Order: sequence, then C-alpha cells, then structure tokens
Amino acid sequence: MTTWFPPLSEYAFARGCPRCGAGPGEPCIAPRKNARLARADHAGVDDEARRMHAPRLDAAIRHYHRDVGKAPLPDARVPGRRYDSLNPASAPRSARAEAAVAVRPPVVRPLADRAAAVFGRESGRVRWPYGMQPPAPPRTRTDEALARYEAALAQRRAAQEQITTWAESLGLRHSQFGCCPRWLQRQRSSRCRPWACTQYGGSGPDHDWLDHLLAWTRRGKPAAITSAPYSVGAQDAARLTWWTGEDPRLSFGLGTGWYGSGTTQIVMWRTDLVAAAPLTADGPDTGPDTGPQRAAPTADVI
Ligand SMILES: [Zn+2]
Ligand SMILES: [Zn+2]
Repeated sequence: MTTWFPPLSEYAFARGCPRCGAGPGEPCIAPRKNARLARADHAGVDDEARRMHAPRLDAAIRHYHRDVGKAPLPDARVPGRRYDSLNPASAPRSARAEAAVAVRPPVVRPLADRAAAVFGRESGRVRWPYGMQPPAPPRTRTDEALARYEAALAQRRAAQEQITTWAESLGLRHSQFGCCPRWLQRQRSSRCRPWACTQYGGSGPDHDWLDHLLAWTRRGKPAAITSAPYSVGAQDAARLTWWTGEDPRLSFGLGTGWYGSGTTQIVMWRTDLVAAAPLTADGPDTGPDTGPQRAAPTADVI
C-alpha cells in the first residue's frame, strides 16, 4: 500500500456535494442510498466514497487525476509522503516521512508535461495514443467497480510512464502519419499512398505484425515504429529480417513493452537517426522464439 494519495473519500470530503448540498467534511444526505448500503453486506475498499453522490465523487476523481498528473514518477517519490493537493497540514505523517520530506527530492517534471512534449495536446489534454488513455471512471460505484478502476488507473499510469520515458530517452515524438516501414524509409514524415503501403488492406505483407502501430519521429524525420501484435508468426519474423536486408539503415528488436495484454512489442528503427532503440526505457528484453533479434543494449542517440 502506498500512502502517496489519500483514498477517494478524502478527496470527496474535501468538497461539498452539488446534489444534496452537504458541506465539506459532511457526509452526503442520502438516506435511501445509505439504507440500501446498510442492507447489503459490504466489505468496502473505500466505503465512505460509496455513500457519496456521484457528482461529488466524480469531482473527487478528477481532482485525484490532476494530483497524479502533477506528481513525480513513482521512483522519485518519497515513501510515506503524500502528493495530493488536499490540505497537507491535516495529513498524518510518520516521523520518518517527515525526515524524508526535509531532504527534498529533486524537482521532477510532471508526467502530463513530459507526455505532452511527446504526444502533443488536444483540448488541453495529452493526446495519448490508442491503449494509453486513462481508463474511464466506472458508471456504477460499487466496491468492485471502484477497486477495478483504481487498479486499472495504476496500471495505465505505469504504461504511460514507460512509453513517455522510452520516447524521451531516444528523443522521439509520436507521429500520427506513420503507416509502415516504407514511411520509415522517407526523409520526411508523409503517409504512403494506400496502394503502395505495406500495412493497409489486410493483405499488406506487414499488416499482421503492425498491430497497435505507433510511429515516431526524431527532429521531424521518421525514426522508429513500434507495434504490439498478439502473436508473431514465422512469416512476420521473416518479413522483419527481409526489411533489414532491403534497407540496411533499418534494425529491429522484439520483447515486451508498454502495451501488455500478452502482446509482443516490436521496435523497428533507423540506425542512422537513432543509434540503438531498446524495447523499453529499462533496456533490451528478449522475446519469445520469434527469430532473429537485433535489440541493442543502450539508448545512445546520435
Ligand atoms: Zn450528496
Ligand atoms: Zn505505409
């Protein structure tokens, strides 16, 4: 259990309720809701939160999201310290945590700012690619739904940190235009004509391994593509190898990455623009027996 953020109920208690008019610190005036909860046998993760009205809880969740976005990476967080923006004076702290706070951790840019530099913003929010967006809050506020939501949030947050750190370490930005290795061969980022692209149409020879494709530029030039297929067949492995023969500037690696869900992460990159592209910011990983692997050990960038 981390103590970096207080439970949702604490966020909810920090504000009033727009539905029943309960003030900060006061429980919601919801007799029927509470009677229903009293009848059922609940071993709640955060039982207080479940007694709140949905608009109050929604505001609490948004507040929590903002705090998580502003907090440093988990590695840089001090154990026992809280990173919420609720009244810090009221937060109980252990003597050890107090001492740790006195040592002031280094200033770390919030993930939202770092991610915006990699992915851009849309309507003020990070333009996360498919599969990297924060999960939507649950519609029903049952213990199970809230617990699932909090777990999904933590998992997604870890993936967001992983993908952002990876891109930063290589000086890469996400491109919305990349489509296939042909794109990677160009001097400038421009999408293929549909009939020339090796991904589109389902019959494209690179279609299968480019599942969950993301394209990356370095200083505006196509520099890498990543994908996360559920399986990598012999044909796909042969195709990857074929590309490195076709264009010696291309290299690739296989392993695990941020997408998860049992997928294999593939990285194909331009060796003249990125000296070596590990699969994740943590370094190279070895994948299943999927043929030759060219993952290089460091994140050195030319
Ligand atoms: Zn209320
Ligand atoms: Zn293409």
